[in-house]
Amino acid sequence: MEKKITIKNGTGINRQKTARTTAQPTDSVPVCPVHKKCGGCCYQGTPYKKQLSLKQRQAAMLLGKYGEVLPIIGMKDPYHYRNKVHAVFSFEKGGHIIAGTYQEGTHKVVSVESCLIDDEKSDAIIRTIRSLLKSFKIKIYDEDTGYGLLRHVLIRRGFTSGEIMVILVAASPVFPSKNNFVKALRKEHPDITTVVLNINDQRTSMILGEKNITLYGKGFIVDSLCGHTFAISPSAFYQVNPVQTEILYQTAMAYAGLTGREIVVDAYCGIGTIGIIAADKAKEVIAVELNPAAVRDARNNARHNKTGNIIFYQNDATRFLNSMQEQKARADVIFMDPPRAGSTESFMESAISLKPKHIVYISCNPETLARDLAYFKQHQYRAEKIQPVDMFPFTDHLETICLLSKL
Ligand code: SAH
Repeated sequence: MEKKITIKNGTGINRQKTARTTAQPTDSVPVCPVHKKCGGCCYQGTPYKKQLSLKQRQAAMLLGKYGEVLPIIGMKDPYHYRNKVHAVFSFEKGGHIIAGTYQEGTHKVVSVESCLIDDEKSDAIIRTIRSLLKSFKIKIYDEDTGYGLLRHVLIRRGFTSGEIMVILVAASPVFPSKNNFVKALRKEHPDITTVVLNINDQRTSMILGEKNITLYGKGFIVDSLCGHTFAISPSAFYQVNPVQTEILYQTAMAYAGLTGREIVVDAYCGIGTIGIIAADKAKEVIAVELNPAAVRDARNNARHNKTGNIIFYQNDATRFLNSMQEQKARADVIFMDPPRAGSTESFMESAISLKPKHIVYISCNPETLARDLAYFKQHQYRAEKIQPVDMFPFTDHLETICLLSKL
């Protein structure tokens, strides 16, 4: 069907455009003109209430057999929630530079002028970078030939602090007129607080390389969540939807029921957010994370928040929990927030051996959560509460927080 939609052009002025879509849009739901090619938002054109009920049904179907699934917590305003925005560059026919995203399942670049879920300020910065490339003679990296310089741009914006980090991912550290480039960019966007040049010289589909060179500012941004401040460096994980993250963490704290006497484990801790918030109400927090940059951030974050009762270990979470088990350690509460693949049986076996009263499992993939809940159920840990939280409106990603208690 064909319908009128409103999109923003490069100048930020709304204009009408006609697009074809097979979704079932209602007049109140804007539809992104490139959603089919981009593939990031499978619920484009679906009213938000309907999206929530679809996610609720999915959660009930996958997780309902392990406990009652509470009504999903949605957003008041489900647009432009992403505080981390990525763009890859390419050429259109005729040599015109485009910035956008990979077409779903391919490495073809789809031009995106403005995205309905990205932070709008970040999208505007990407448009400016695109417009500066030609005059600075910055060549776009070609994945097929390995020729060219600029591969990606990543922008992270602190929701509360307003700090903005621009990460230019380049194939080489030799970036022509880099200081003038930063100056020109900051002239358009004076609120950019730091610019980092990340070097990715590998033939890889990973966005970021290992090396970061700070071109302007301090090389990281600071943001606050649940009354604490957190430094976030270029490669560390940080939740992309800050509004819903506060709700998620508050729910996690409520489920943990801390009184100030507990020994707490924060596994897969990232930059230490959950552990640092929990430390206020615990005796001691032991946190583990694999990514060394995230652990560095976490230690700095603990220092800045004057949190003295937390210790961070850089290790594989399973290996670390195994060693806690060998030492016959105990924990009262375990927070676990693994990546999409979920946890491992060996991790869960060790977690159970610590005899926690509660395990608070935060999951970004209900399928692996269901698998792991089955294991916990077999080992006498029952899901008392299962709370879906919509962290990713318009996409089919589903975040769930689950309170497990010993039977
Ligand atoms: N709890 C944090 C991070 C959750 S994302 C937050 O709320 O922000 C999952 C984290 O698990 C990432 O930081 C990732 O680097 C880490 N991770 C992935 N595999 C891991 C492993 N095997 N052992 C420990 N940490 C791991």
